[in-house]
Amino acid sequence: MKKNDVLVIGGSAAGLTAAMTARRHYATKSIALVRREKKVSIPCGIPYAFGIVGSPEKNLMPADELLSKNGVDSVLGDVSALDLKSKTATLANGETLGYERLVLATGSEPLVPPIPGCDKAGIFAIRKDVDYLSAALEAMDRCRNLCIVGCGFIGVEIAEECKRRRPSVNIRIVEMLTHCLQLVYDEDFCLKAENSLKEQGIELLLDAKVAAFEGEKALERIRLADGNALEADMAILGIGAVANIALAREAGLDIGPTRGVQVNRYMQTSDPAVYACGDCAEKVSFFDGKPSALKLASIATMEARIAGANLFATNRVNMGVIGVYSTVLGECAFGAAGLTATQALEKGYDIVTGESEAINRHPGCMPGGTPLKVKLVFETGNQVLIGGQVSGAKSGGELINTVSACISRRMTADDIAMFQTGTHPALTASPVAYQLVNAAEIAIGEMQKKRAHG
Ligand SMILES: Cc1cc2nc3c(=O)[nH]c(=O)nc-3n(C[C@H](O)[C@H](O)[C@H](O)COP(=O)(O)OP(=O)(O)OC[C@H]3O[C@@H](n4cnc5c(N)ncnc54)[C@H](O)[C@@H]3O)c2cc1C
Repeated sequence: MKKNDVLVIGGSAAGLTAAMTARRHYATKSIALVRREKKVSIPCGIPYAFGIVGSPEKNLMPADELLSKNGVDSVLGDVSALDLKSKTATLANGETLGYERLVLATGSEPLVPPIPGCDKAGIFAIRKDVDYLSAALEAMDRCRNLCIVGCGFIGVEIAEECKRRRPSVNIRIVEMLTHCLQLVYDEDFCLKAENSLKEQGIELLLDAKVAAFEGEKALERIRLADGNALEADMAILGIGAVANIALAREAGLDIGPTRGVQVNRYMQTSDPAVYACGDCAEKVSFFDGKPSALKLASIATMEARIAGANLFATNRVNMGVIGVYSTVLGECAFGAAGLTATQALEKGYDIVTGESEAINRHPGCMPGGTPLKVKLVFETGNQVLIGGQVSGAKSGGELINTVSACISRRMTADDIAMFQTGTHPALTASPVAYQLVNAAEIAIGEMQKKRAHG
């Protein structure tokens, strides 16, 4: 039996990052990583494999290169059982690997709802598996009527990428909520996203629920709960993901309320020698410490940097998930961090918002000049930033990360209004019109009005 100081199970965003972090923090330890697949998809790039990137084969992480560069042994295999007492992992081929510290980074699988007919040919959930995705790509190249279930990030990105390469395909997205991307943006941002999709010829059926997938053997139509039917020879399910917890559960580790592997703030499971990170791990919200079902690659790598650093000494603490998203629809970038105004009100916060829109160049006639809007959500009493949304110029994809930094440091509206920014005519809005700072100033004005009116 081969024994390593550190064994990581899972070779995607969380597993690779945990192994590389462990190497940086513990130079002399032996580290091995076991993963199922030879070719590792870049998960966030999957929608683009159906369009601009060209194929799942072009959307790969250089996993072996990263591991060998960092002195991590790479094992291809499927771990079928863990024995926490003897500190061993058994592979499906019978091989046994020992460890001092174990990191579970077994990720998630797409949610497949128990809708009648959802096993028919032509229906795909988005698995992070190159062969499966190649089959989906082939089906997409043949299809005439594509129906996407779920108007979240995966749904809208795949719809756009399908349209980009196959303009004649009829594309519909069915969403049971009232707006597209509703779980992440306030209504004004959702409407902008919906307009962008409609302009590209993508049909949206909102407030609509799929009742059944119908057809002889393969999918022919989708029956909605209101009785209407949609012609469809391909369907893609983009409605969420469930944590891969079978190994952990069977080994006797605690499972949390959202069905992730229970971890503490150091990413340690109920067995102190076992850590978990990424989509398989239970999460809590940064805002109220309550369980959170968010699953993002950016969260997975953040948690992996905590788990990897803490394996033999406590170095880092998880403050909980903020939830930072970005995407681009047409030429318009959308970003969100933390709570929307709607979510903050639902959680009982007394809030004030500030919005500022300006061209991201000065003067605005400089090449590349594009409007960029920032909306910030503050708690009224203590003025602390709890959320932000951006839309417009593609620089918004990075600006939302600044918003996340401000949230994580619990900055107030005044802190942001006094933020020292670097501006340049060819790169940003002018310092007078800088959207982030001005949105905070506008919110301060709103707070003063609110105070004046009691
Ligand atoms: C289409 C799509 C687009 C996305 N876009 C974004 C985005 O833009 N931004 C963002 O932040 N997030 C995005 N996400 C979410 C992101 O992909 C996940 O949060 C991320 O992949 C989680 O990484 P992970 O390493 O925890 O798990 P996974 O990526 O699920 O990887 C789990 C790994 O564990 C291995 N494994 C599991 N069980 C075993 C076992 N028993 N033995 C051996 N190996 C095992 C798997 O083979 C795999 O290598 C997207 C997801 C999808 C599906």
